[in-house]
Amino acid sequence: MSALLEIRDVVVRFRVRGGVFSSAGSIDAVSGVSLDVEEGKTYGIVGESGSGKTTLARAVAGLHHASEGSILYRGQELRGLAEGAFRPLRREIVMMFQDPIGSLSPRLSVKSLITEPFRIQGMRERDLDGEARRLLAMVGLPPEFAARYPYQISGGQARRVGVARALALSPKLLIADEPTAGLDVSIQGEMLNLLARLQDELGLAIMIITHNLNVVRHITDRVGIMYLGKLVEEGETEAVFAKPQHPYTLALLAANPEPDPDAQLMRVELQGEPPSILRRPKGCEFHTRCPFAQPRCATEVPRWQAAKGGAHRCHFPAGWDTAAAAS
Ligand code: SF4
Repeated sequence: MSALLEIRDVVVRFRVRGGVFSSAGSIDAVSGVSLDVEEGKTYGIVGESGSGKTTLARAVAGLHHASEGSILYRGQELRGLAEGAFRPLRREIVMMFQDPIGSLSPRLSVKSLITEPFRIQGMRERDLDGEARRLLAMVGLPPEFAARYPYQISGGQARRVGVARALALSPKLLIADEPTAGLDVSIQGEMLNLLARLQDELGLAIMIITHNLNVVRHITDRVGIMYLGKLVEEGETEAVFAKPQHPYTLALLAANPEPDPDAQLMRVELQGEPPSILRRPKGCEFHTRCPFAQPRCATEVPRWQAAKGGAHRCHFPAGWDTAAAAS
């Protein structure tokens, strides 16, 4: 069975000119990413800011143009689709933004916010009061919330409203950008439980973009780790968390403020800041920050190598070979 979403060798290129850039040129914010999202499953994309994870998500949602590669949704090519051709797919592929209602008009009531997708899609025959009640119940909010305005609800309630709006048209694929950012830890847990429940009930596929590894561990089936616009490790979440292979994955896990107490992971600290995407390092692009880097890393681009439950791009996965060589 093919995946609901098949991303193959996707490049998202932006033109840059003037300002801090001395001359016109281009940058690949996403560079050759491939991954599959299965029906009814959750895929987490993790990386520091500037890793390209949100750009990739926006390309899938048709909000950025993918310059190269292929984005197949149920076998249909999305890359290069004109807005008019993409519009019907916006019922099935929905992006939930980091601040889902903060970017919308504060003058709209919750009912207007969550039923707006019906109006945008021209579904004027719908009973919007009934739909608002159904959607509020789905996300665990009482019907009275329909009459409230954004300034009258808490941050956690606002996220629930954002989920209700995102799911109004019964999508098949929800792309959630940092769904728990800015929330208290207890509210984060509620939010993740809500998403997990809805996924189960609705058979949704979810692509979660986050820098929060606890979100990934809690809710995803697979995870992809991005660095400078490229995937460096990918696999089943359990396998990647139990035995991360790429030093960057190890470093992210080591920096997690709430580490898994059962995991016996090597402490790896990132060195320095990420290099500019305008001047990608040669060889392994992580070598300027990698504590396990060897001379080979500065010249030879690592290929994908299979590991248990996934794959990675590192010549010396988890530094084991380096440690052996040094002993
Ligand atoms: Fe580090 Fe070398 Fe692996 Fe790159 S290839 S992550 S520099 S050990």
